[in-house]
Amino acid sequence: MVLKDARSKIEKTWTTTKKFLAAMSVWGLVFSLVTIARLGVAFDYDDTLVHSEDSFAKAARSVQQAGGPQYWHIVNNAYDLESPKLLPYGLACLFRGFGFRILILADRQAGGGDALRKEWRRLAPKGFVFVGAPENKHLHLQDGRFVLFFGDSDRDILEAKNAGVLGVRVKRGKKSVGRGEYNPGALGEQVLPFSEY
Ligand SMILES: [Mg+2]
Repeated sequence: MVLKDARSKIEKTWTTTKKFLAAMSVWGLVFSLVTIARLGVAFDYDDTLVHSEDSFAKAARSVQQAGGPQYWHIVNNAYDLESPKLLPYGLACLFRGFGFRILILADRQAGGGDALRKEWRRLAPKGFVFVGAPENKHLHLQDGRFVLFFGDSDRDILEAKNAGVLGVRVKRGKKSVGRGEYNPGALGEQVLPFSEY
């Protein structure tokens, strides 16, 4: 009886081990293929990867005129007020885990942005770009290695189309101060459910 119990326990463990090993080899295979092909996934920053309305509010309070160097310096250094959006950020980590290069494209001026870049270096080593104007994004998506671009604004989806990359819409959070046209699904793109949180 004891022997039988022990045997069934061993068999169970062995089955679990085999499943685990199978999963690991699938992961390893995907990881190698993705890495060899140098595939990437790109994300917009504000309202896509993070809730950042508090950074903009802080800058707006401190500076009289929005858009100057001082303003962007404050926005770019207020990242302790920002929180990751659960699903998009989770997906970014997952893609990274499968070997994809992550590129983050922020519609911001670069002033004072070194600390922010550093903050994201784990997810996107050397892959945090301040694009300045939103209509410059396709320039960064064009190298043919990006399979997806996640963004919240209509412009983001258009930029993805422009670059021949599949655009996925991320919904803005309730408190978002995002500017730019926002009509999820209007361009025929996939809308990521629950991405507003
Ligand atoms: Mg955005």
